[in-house]
Amino acid sequence: MPTNDHYVIIGNGPAGNHAAYTLREKDKDAKITIVSDEAIPFYSKPKLTRYILDEIDSQDLLVKQLSSYSETGIRLRLGQEVDSINPATHTVFLHHKEEIHYTKLIIASGSRARVLPSMRPYASCLKFISSYNQVVEYKEEIRNANEFFIFGGDLVGFKFLRLLAKMGKKITLLIYPNAFWPFNLNDEMEAVIEKSLSGLDVDLVVKDDISAITESGAGYRVTTQKGKEKQVDMVFSFNGLVPSVDFARGCGLDIDHGILVDETMRTNNPDIYACGSCAQVYNPNVNAYTTSIGWPNAVVQGEVTAMNLLGDYKVIESVGRKYFDLEGVKIKTTWWEDIEEA
Ligand SMILES: Cc1cc2nc3c(=O)[nH]c(=O)nc-3n(C[C@H](O)[C@H](O)[C@H](O)COP(=O)(O)OP(=O)(O)OC[C@H]3O[C@@H](n4cnc5c(N)ncnc54)[C@H](O)[C@@H]3O)c2cc1C
Repeated sequence: MPTNDHYVIIGNGPAGNHAAYTLREKDKDAKITIVSDEAIPFYSKPKLTRYILDEIDSQDLLVKQLSSYSETGIRLRLGQEVDSINPATHTVFLHHKEEIHYTKLIIASGSRARVLPSMRPYASCLKFISSYNQVVEYKEEIRNANEFFIFGGDLVGFKFLRLLAKMGKKITLLIYPNAFWPFNLNDEMEAVIEKSLSGLDVDLVVKDDISAITESGAGYRVTTQKGKEKQVDMVFSFNGLVPSVDFARGCGLDIDHGILVDETMRTNNPDIYACGSCAQVYNPNVNAYTTSIGWPNAVVQGEVTAMNLLGDYKVIESVGRKYFDLEGVKIKTTWWEDIEEA
């Protein structure tokens, strides 16, 4: 049955795009709009490190496995930030004061870098690698800089560290075992990582913490609690991700860290769904809501969300357990796959 529905999707990552294409497959007539604050269409975040290295250009970042937006009639609005939502009037408010009306809404706004509470006073000194926009902003600076300070250490952080080592940069890495993401490091794991990095020119700082970061010359001076001092050009923080859901707070949706959804990806509002890394999904096996990160889960969640929005009843399942190797530490995961070519 042809419809005049308008499905609006916030976010153009794997969850949002796979939701959009599944909606289009099942409903040829509906108006479908993806809104994103990013500067480019659907791209591969796992390839961002290769882009920094100039191994690939921005065209190679684009995910081409789905048909083009013009072929499918999916409207893509880039560079447009959603400020808030009013579920009562089915309205999405954009930062530039425009309003978009939806029949059904899918929130697929992903996640952003987590700033540890202890680092908030130094937030203006920190850099992150969690989106194309950020990478474009820092790319030249990274290429021209020599001394880097990395603290935390998560899956993306180690990818970045290896990249800097390949570029011949000088790196100091301060590992935060308790802020390590997605799990905390025990002493044994820390020792394995230390050994794995021993072949690289990395100044490894363990069992210590940052006491201050101050602007100094063209760069920064990082001081640790044990008195180590480092003058560096750039300071990067890799301490995991948190769901990007601030724009949805206060509108009546149930939100904890992420937007709470049931096993069908529906929120407490029947016309609003959430999927990908912004969602916290109810898991009846543990009677709790869990955030799911990683590319493969975002794809599956986007597709399942679209089918349920159209009246199907599909319960979300994890994409299956995998193991991968992080600097010698074997990680068992249901959510992350080591991807270079997504
Ligand atoms: C450098 C890097 C390497 C990675 N490598 C891997 C890997 O090897 N394996 C793996 O499984 N995962 C990897 N990931 C994680 C993976 O990319 C994410 O899990 C996945 O992209 C999440 O998909 P998503 O659709 O939920 O959200 P995202 O891909 O984050 O997309 C969300 C979109 O919503 C937009 N948005 C957010 N808020 C607003 C707003 N208010 N208004 C408008 N738009 C908004 C964002 O800008 C973004 O475009 C990596 C991530 C990074 C950053």
